[in-house]
Amino acid sequence: MKIVVIFGSPGSGKGTIASRLTKLNPQMIHVSSGDMLRKAVEDHTAVGLEAESYMRDGALVPDEIIGRMISEYIASVDSGTIVLLDGFPRTLTQADILDEAAQTCACSAEVSLAVLLDISDEVVFDRVAGRRGCPACGAGYHVTNIPPRVAGICDNCGTALVIRKDDTPETVAQRIAIYKQQTVPLIAFYAERGILRRVPATGSVDDIVALTQRAISENPA
Ligand code: AMP
Repeated sequence: MKIVVIFGSPGSGKGTIASRLTKLNPQMIHVSSGDMLRKAVEDHTAVGLEAESYMRDGALVPDEIIGRMISEYIASVDSGTIVLLDGFPRTLTQADILDEAAQTCACSAEVSLAVLLDISDEVVFDRVAGRRGCPACGAGYHVTNIPPRVAGICDNCGTALVIRKDDTPETVAQRIAIYKQQTVPLIAFYAERGILRRVPATGSVDDIVALTQRAISENPA
């Protein structure tokens, strides 16, 4: 197993890029901590009940809750797989939890690459304002950048698209502030390890996918 961390500010396109990459590479799987938590909230699990208020306020869910979910997931992955981790880790403590989970899982992996999707705050606000998602299959859209074939309807399953509860301007500002405070230290953390790659995340989705794909392919680990 190879673990590739995809990180960046809210709205940097982590989910979109990771999901496109899995369509191009059958050995890759996309693991989104945000999607896992949204599913837990929807299913009213114990984790979901605990996570819900943090998510609604744009705050981070406590490290041990999300850390446990991701560690359990990593332990279940087959050895030939490339895991694209979207949204985890988001703190230095979570980065340590990930290292531990990778080392102790049956296929004894390690984080081989951390791709930073680089984007400015202005672009983030625009992107998040137009973001839409399918509540049934999880597909992501943007009203102008990635429009569905029929406005407001999912191309894959025909379900009406929705705006995420935490995509209000106030919550986005809060999420960006938390990103700067808690997640930006990961840039130095992975740079010191020599596995950080920066990908400018402001071009077309196809360009960003191609640049990310190249960064992963060039990585020998
Ligand atoms: P995302 O879909 O990645 O933007 O995540 C949506 C929300 O889920 C975040 O604003 C957090 O409340 C929560 N969340 C997702 N991943 C994590 C994480 N690694 N650590 C803590 N909270 C998280």
